Amino acid sequence: MKYAVFGDVHANLEALEAVLADAGQRGAERYLCTGDLVGYNADPAACMDRLQKAGAACVQGNHDAFAASSEELSDFTAPARRSIEWTRLHLDLAHRQRLAALPLILGTGDITLVHASLFRPEDWAYIFTAAEAAPGLMMQQTPVCFYGHTHRPAAFRMRNGRIEGFLHQKLILTPDSRYLINPGSIGQPRDGDPRAAYVLYDDDAQTVELRRVNYDMAAAQSKIRAAGLPAWNADRLAIGR
Ligand code: ZN
Repeated sequence: MKYAVFGDVHANLEALEAVLADAGQRGAERYLCTGDLVGYNADPAACMDRLQKAGAACVQGNHDAFAASSEELSDFTAPARRSIEWTRLHLDLAHRQRLAALPLILGTGDITLVHASLFRPEDWAYIFTAAEAAPGLMMQQTPVCFYGHTHRPAAFRMRNGRIEGFLHQKLILTPDSRYLINPGSIGQPRDGDPRAAYVLYDDDAQTVELRRVNYDMAAAQSKIRAAGLPAWNADRLAIGR
């Protein structure tokens, strides 16, 4: 079966629609989301409803958790904090309850999903390096785990107790290893490539292919500006940062 795996959708409906269309054309049958459905962009409820319609299995990201709560937002940058406050105001109770109910970790067959790290997922640690990947990989029970949070595609492999990181375009998974893979971000890529990112995981061929998809960025940007969200949220989409 082919899975489309993605995350950090961040309320960018134009990017989400483009990714779902691309994945559908390539034979994806199931959709898995590594969290951060909302935040930064202007269509939180519409993205949640679109993911539900697609039958996507989702874990909770930090933006989802904080948008669903009324907790103080002390650990966020100013634009992120303002985005979460805006999102709280623009989601009804039913959508906030759906975000609150998302699990931090989800296992389905040979796959685990988490937003940050399997090691204390509620701490929202970022995984950029092999050293940062290690605590979660030690706890990982399935051959493959997909994560998000950094908004950058990445892959780590643990074999014979050694962990190595590499950039992936198309990976062939081998049974002697455990893999921790970041599909990049749909709604706010930060690796310098402004196109929406996701991966196709084929569990028969044991391949993971990174894909980048163009979308109607101008429409997403004008919605951000019209909504009164921070202007930087729109500007950064163009540079992929
Ligand atoms: Zn995010």
